[in-house]
Amino acid sequence: MRLLEERIRKDGVVKEGNVLKVDSFLNHQMDIALFNEMGREWKRLFEGERITKILTIEASGIGIAAVCAQYFDVPVVFAKKSQSINLDGSVYSTRIQSFTHQRVYDVIVSRKYLGPEDRVLVIDDFLANGNAINGLISIIRDAGAELAGVGIAVEKGFQDGGKQLRDAGIRVESLAILESMDASTGEIVFREQE
Ligand code: 5GP
Repeated sequence: MRLLEERIRKDGVVKEGNVLKVDSFLNHQMDIALFNEMGREWKRLFEGERITKILTIEASGIGIAAVCAQYFDVPVVFAKKSQSINLDGSVYSTRIQSFTHQRVYDVIVSRKYLGPEDRVLVIDDFLANGNAINGLISIIRDAGAELAGVGIAVEKGFQDGGKQLRDAGIRVESLAILESMDASTGEIVFREQE
């Protein structure tokens, strides 16, 4: 998606350790007009798919998913990072290794908000090694729900997550895919998409 690529080029900052900072429009301050266009694009890409719910993970996914959900007219559920594993069986839970914080989180979704009747679109800000998305997919499977596909704002194509998901037959629609980025020069190369 040109608009997002141009914005990343203009305002994204490449950090050491393969991290792209997009705090000025996506991860801290949020450009809602941009989110709106992203939602419109996912709606176009997933047109004709039956989707009953959008699933994301706190915190950065929530704003994007919420704006996007208006196009699909479905609720957004976000997986919550939890301090304690809930043992009363009221939640689905999984462990996710965080790319940016180098630690493991337990995340939970209440059984009330996801079930076998659901067909789910997963939305998140970044796809790197795929841990966050795989965690969400395992929650969808636990719920007996169906995965319709995955919508990602920024995929780091030089990390393996996207390839693994696509190889597993999962539909992944990333609005910008980084082919490479260089912290010393700030250069970013995007993968061509039609
Ligand atoms: P994964 O689980 O695919 O390895 O990493 C995805 C998660 O890590 C995303 O939810 C995102 O919050 C964070 N993340 C991964 N890479 C980056 C990055 O380059 N920049 C930012 N801002 N977040 C990232």
